[in-house]
Amino acid sequence: MLHLGEKGAAVQNNPHTTLVTPKAPIATDTHGGRAKCLQRLVRLDLPVPRTVALSFEAVQRIARGEMPDISAIVSQFPDGALLCVRPSSEDPDWGGPGAVLNIGMNADRQADLTERLGAEAAEAIFMRFVQSYAVDVARLDPDMFDDVRPDSAVGLQDSLYAYEAEYEEPFPADPAEQLTAVLKSMARAWDGTTARLLRQAKGAPADAGLGLVVQEMALGLGTGECGSGVLQLVNSDTGLPQITGRYLSQSQGRDALEGDAGAVFLSRDPRGASLEELVPDVFARLCKHASLMRERLREEMQLEFVLENGALHILDGVRVARSSQAAVRIAVRLAEDGIISRAEALMRVQPRTLTELLHRQVSPTARRDVIGRGIAASPGAATGQIVFSAAEAQASASRGEPCILVRRETSPEDIRGMHAAVGVLTERGGITSHAAVIGRGIGLPCVVGASSMRFNRSKKQLVTEGGRVFESGEVITLDGTSGEVLAGAPEMREAALDESFQRLMDWADELRDIDIRANADTPADAQTARNFNAQGIGLCRTEHMFFETGRLTVMREMIFAETSQDRRAVLERLLPMQRADFTQLFRIMQGKPVCIRLFDPPLHEFLPTDRVGQRELAEALDLPLSDVTRRISAMSEYNPMLGLRGVRLGVTVPEIYEMQARAIFEAALDAAVDGVAVVPEIMIPLVSARREVELVKTAIDAVASAVRSERDQDFDFRLGVMVETPRAALRTADIAPYCAFLSFGTNDLTQMTYGLSRDDAGRFMSDYVQQGVFPEDPFHVLDVEGVGELLKIGAGRGREAQPDITLSVCGEHGGNPESISFCRDAGFDYVSCSPFRVPVARLAAAQLAISDKIL
Ligand code: PEP
Ligand code: MG
Repeated sequence: MLHLGEKGAAVQNNPHTTLVTPKAPIATDTHGGRAKCLQRLVRLDLPVPRTVALSFEAVQRIARGEMPDISAIVSQFPDGALLCVRPSSEDPDWGGPGAVLNIGMNADRQADLTERLGAEAAEAIFMRFVQSYAVDVARLDPDMFDDVRPDSAVGLQDSLYAYEAEYEEPFPADPAEQLTAVLKSMARAWDGTTARLLRQAKGAPADAGLGLVVQEMALGLGTGECGSGVLQLVNSDTGLPQITGRYLSQSQGRDALEGDAGAVFLSRDPRGASLEELVPDVFARLCKHASLMRERLREEMQLEFVLENGALHILDGVRVARSSQAAVRIAVRLAEDGIISRAEALMRVQPRTLTELLHRQVSPTARRDVIGRGIAASPGAATGQIVFSAAEAQASASRGEPCILVRRETSPEDIRGMHAAVGVLTERGGITSHAAVIGRGIGLPCVVGASSMRFNRSKKQLVTEGGRVFESGEVITLDGTSGEVLAGAPEMREAALDESFQRLMDWADELRDIDIRANADTPADAQTARNFNAQGIGLCRTEHMFFETGRLTVMREMIFAETSQDRRAVLERLLPMQRADFTQLFRIMQGKPVCIRLFDPPLHEFLPTDRVGQRELAEALDLPLSDVTRRISAMSEYNPMLGLRGVRLGVTVPEIYEMQARAIFEAALDAAVDGVAVVPEIMIPLVSARREVELVKTAIDAVASAVRSERDQDFDFRLGVMVETPRAALRTADIAPYCAFLSFGTNDLTQMTYGLSRDDAGRFMSDYVQQGVFPEDPFHVLDVEGVGELLKIGAGRGREAQPDITLSVCGEHGGNPESISFCRDAGFDYVSCSPFRVPVARLAAAQLAISDKIL
């Protein structure tokens, strides 16, 4: 490279317009990532062409019409050099205007280049510049060059003619004038509404700045080996080491990646020619530079390079684009190679990235009954009942029924419904449609643009191309990886997580300082929780177990029993089933704590609501139908969520809790026979008064004594309370002395604190959020001001009354990174969340601990 340090002093170490030298005042937050990266490459003594960086402020001024000293910039470069200008935003993901190459090209330069490189190369360079200037700078219609013949003197003349005809002015010949126009157009493009909205969607702040870099062109065309290409050391999809990229002789910019037939591989490849064979020494140098960049820039970088008559130039380095799997592998390998610390590797992986990795897929061996196809917009597969609106999706989720949200297309109003659904299917839209973008963002399997299917919202039907009709409530499966829509529920394969993922999770566990458990109701959930290394089960909702076939009728019989004795007799039949459930859970969890919540819902939820079901029940119980209907209507409640449920059942119908306690203790002993010590945790739901706890504790202690003496074996257990009513939160000082733990059920606590039905809030939640009444849906993100204050009061008073007490959150908020931050600050021992959110919670907790240490 030429060193012209003495020229253009105004551009030496000027904070706003500076030559990129090792010591120039350049920072990412003032000049952007590209400028900073180029400075690092210069410091590494890599063959980087001479470059001038313009700061965010300089570019803002340009947008307002205040130009820097253009002649001072131009004077930094050798006379006659061609230049390119590229954007340099703070985060490369925020985008920016496209690069403009070959600035400075005019008839004089053409003559020079014709002499040096030959007429064809000179014409090609000039034509390329005229066309890109016309489109990117003069904002003319690209179609005007459709008929221009490429790579010929005629093509150049046609392009100049088309420009002049359209713009009604001659093509500017003065390099300074050209550069001025390019800088102005790029500065203004950044301020355009579309560009602003696009970058804000990627998380850029409203006032994000744009820097620009002006670089001497290395031409890539001419005599000797000339061309351009890109190289990286990892595969962007897998994250595994692999020299990847392309090189194209006689090309500029990123031409090599544009599917040009002449592009060759980089390393030797059985599929065709390679740069390694063409110029082995250059290839070796490139690889050396790439390794040095990886090591010193502490990141996997993609190099953009040019060969000019055999001489190698490194034009740029950008962070390698990466899939979610690659993101984890790259971070882990960089840490394993000692290039970054483990903590930094953890900070580099977004919790969202893990979510994407964690999804299940349709098993490759499953039979696939394909009923439609669309664009595979967000990976993973999901099975659920069809629902046609966001409100239905929320209602379905609150009933614990997985659903697929089927919409013509989605809009921001559907977001809450999308959160509630397990998958989203749309008739319209492409890979960047709202449904697709949001689906990927939240790791929700999503198929969009399934236009061969008809979505009839008023009839609540989905009609396939072949005329098959699927009604609302029928089960379908979305394969967001292949884009297929399947009937029914094919067998699934759980997310395959590789060694890097496991390693990253191990590091997270070493650094985090709050425990993570899983909410798991079934052995399958418990197995997933184990696979994700949850530190136990924080909430096992036992009521789901009674809905299983063979149990529901027995359950109903128990509900219909007239006397305590009859009830006990029926419960005797449920006992072995519950014992088997718990034994399985304890065995799967291998001695890790399992917190079992005693029966919670109102009993009438188990009774049939329609005539057919009631008749069947009358038959099964051998009762007159009128008896059955009378009893069912007598049990109905005006406000069941605030009615006879939770501990209120434990107090008024104690036989159920006694049976469950017995099943838990016997299962703990049975599981311990296999050599695993089990200390079960028993949790009492919906408590609001001390006396409730006292009564249930007395009953459970009695069952424990009975089991100990019957089995002639001792065991421990821990009794705790689920704090989910505001009164319980306020009265933890009374309650805590009876408890080994308090677990805050933030779903009900949110419902009761706001007086807001968790099942109905979906209908107006978007209005509330849109009008700024709530900053977010408080069932999704913990309301730290109101519900949070109750949590703090409850935790503080509980801990004061009983210093050893274990404190936790087991509502849906337990898996949300912001809520985990709150729980950690409030001194909670653990959070418990759905099994698939466990890795995300482990990572988020580690990131919080690391951030605290950094600050
Ligand atoms: C809660 O209320 O926060 C809770 C975890 O229990 P459920 O969702 O079963 O009511
Ligand atoms: Mg609850």
